[in-house]
Amino acid sequence: MGFFDDLVVNVKSAANKVGEETGKLVNTSKLKINVSELKSEIRRHTEDIGKTVVANPAMFAGNPEIAGKLAEIKAAEAKIEELKAEIAANQNRVACTNCGTENSTAASFCHNCGAKLPEPPAPPAPPVTPPAPPTTPSGE
Ligand SMILES: [Zn+2]
Repeated sequence: MGFFDDLVVNVKSAANKVGEETGKLVNTSKLKINVSELKSEIRRHTEDIGKTVVANPAMFAGNPEIAGKLAEIKAAEAKIEELKAEIAANQNRVACTNCGTENSTAASFCHNCGAKLPEPPAPPAPPVTPPAPPTTPSGE
């Protein structure tokens, strides 16, 4: 083989080597995707198991660790209700532009300084459904 033949062979084998490496990379990322899919499957199942435990607390009352977690969940749920009530209360409050005192949105004047209160924001209008286009007989 002459020099150029050798060169061509070397370039070809280098190209094959690159192709091999690229193939490995592609295969590795596929494997990584499979791993992360399986991990999220495990997460889903674990979550389902957790939901079952939460739904059947009596079954796990004998396990202090689980009972403790269930108590924490109950406390968090109670806190959520509390915060929701606070949010609802805040939404019915309006701050006086003169003194900053919070007033009910039903009030027209500040109960502290008597200044006129800003108009409460209008409640979101119900979505306007456009009139249905006239139905043309389909001729069936
Ligand atoms: Zn005021």
